[in-house]
Amino acid sequence: MVVTRAEVYEKVVFAERPVCPYCGKEMKVWASYETGFGCGSRWGTPYLFICANDECPLFVDGWEHMRETYGRPCSYRCICYPDSRKTETMVVYSYDKSGIIDEATISADKARGTLEDPAVQELLSHFESRGLESLLSCLFDRDVYYKVRLRAAELIGELGLLEAIEPLRNYQFRDQRIADRVRNTIKRLHDITGTRECPYCAEIVEDGVATCSHCGRSL
Ligand SMILES: [Zn+2]
Ligand SMILES: [Zn+2]
Repeated sequence: MVVTRAEVYEKVVFAERPVCPYCGKEMKVWASYETGFGCGSRWGTPYLFICANDECPLFVDGWEHMRETYGRPCSYRCICYPDSRKTETMVVYSYDKSGIIDEATISADKARGTLEDPAVQELLSHFESRGLESLLSCLFDRDVYYKVRLRAAELIGELGLLEAIEPLRNYQFRDQRIADRVRNTIKRLHDITGTRECPYCAEIVEDGVATCSHCGRSL
């Protein structure tokens, strides 16, 4: 199953914060992909927990240890994986807190109830203005919440525009749930527009015609 960045964020912010094994302080949510090193791919997850405590013994002693051992101005911070809760040390080169998401931001996100609410509102406004392009780009965006993408697929079906079929058929959806929903959407679009797919050449033809206008074979 493919998991989007937004989904990982939702899971991590609602999860209980682990405690740093070095200082006993609660760890913070950290967007690893926002930092220069590794682009987040190094940890296999866009969000982790990190000990942001500048008084943490690991961090404090690390500066001295690294200078004596390697002659380099760097230290360590403790990170924790959201799924396994396994902890690890990570080399850091400054006191910089980039990527660490403060709890106020997280509370604001949570206070919106469900994190995707504004996105759904936006979708509905695209639907009302018959903005097929916007609905499609939301459906194709892997960084958008699942629930929102599934809703976009539904709304595209409701919109009932013939020109929606082609881009939907041509897009390779990596996620099975979304691919299934899109298949239903295509079915719905055929129903609404009175069309079908030619079983021989896969072109879209009018429902009920005796021969395919593209390949000439009888249907
Ligand atoms: Zn610590
Ligand atoms: Zn045909």
